[in-house]
Amino acid sequence: MLKTNTSIPSKMRAAVLTTKQNIRLEDRPVPQPEADQVLIQVKAVSVCGSDVHYYLEGRIGDFVVERPLVLGHEVSGVIVGVGDNVPEQRIGQRVAIEPQRPCGTCLQCRTGHYNLCPHMEFYATPPIDGAFQEYVTIQASFAHPISDNVSYEEGALLEPLSVGLWACHKAHISPGARVLIAGAGPIGILTAQAARAFGAAEIIVSDIQHERRQQAMKYGATSTLDPSKESVEQLEVDAFIDCSGAAKAVQSGIRAVRGQGTLCLLEWEEMR
Ligand SMILES: [Zn+2]
Ligand SMILES: [Zn+2]
Repeated sequence: MLKTNTSIPSKMRAAVLTTKQNIRLEDRPVPQPEADQVLIQVKAVSVCGSDVHYYLEGRIGDFVVERPLVLGHEVSGVIVGVGDNVPEQRIGQRVAIEPQRPCGTCLQCRTGHYNLCPHMEFYATPPIDGAFQEYVTIQASFAHPISDNVSYEEGALLEPLSVGLWACHKAHISPGARVLIAGAGPIGILTAQAARAFGAAEIIVSDIQHERRQQAMKYGATSTLDPSKESVEQLEVDAFIDCSGAAKAVQSGIRAVRGQGTLCLLEWEEMR
């Protein structure tokens, strides 16, 4: 049963991808939280590269949009209702959502690697609906409170930011490190910011697009280069993080790493 202190409408608007390159606004019932879930009024959703792929191509690898799907998984909002087993004090909390539901019982879940759960249900990954709608539900433990000085837009960016933070963790970025990041899309730039927070002294971002290199300089890179004109192979970096998925960038990036250095691959599109 839903516990709430406001009146929740029975219907909401949802932006539904019906077939590729077709999004329709629909009225849908507001979802009901299960006992361990919260009901969240969505405030901000950012558009991920995966949303763009589903929109343009109707698929990402083996994940195919076979029936109508709501996109969007980078989302923040406010808790407006809770299920039976969730304390009512959570109502009114501003939260960023970790947009997934692992099974909790398989080997990966029980050894603490729930991100690898083979039964994972993830927002905006067929057949699970995402967050381009007015209300969503999620397990209470995956609705992370954000402080008042974090805007909802910033809250929505915590999901992709966590990708960058984890990459820097995996790549063992430590104070003073010299890092090469390939690809200055949103993930590359958030990874550059994360590397800065980890104390990296030199953050070199490569991208073939001039505007993207400019963005990278604005948000955390210490220098940039155009890999179509300059070689990265002499850089001798402590760590290389690929955020491009481009086979060429990965091949040359590997050669840019010093002995005992680390490399971390975030994107895999061209690699399959
Ligand atoms: Zn994403
Ligand atoms: Zn599991």
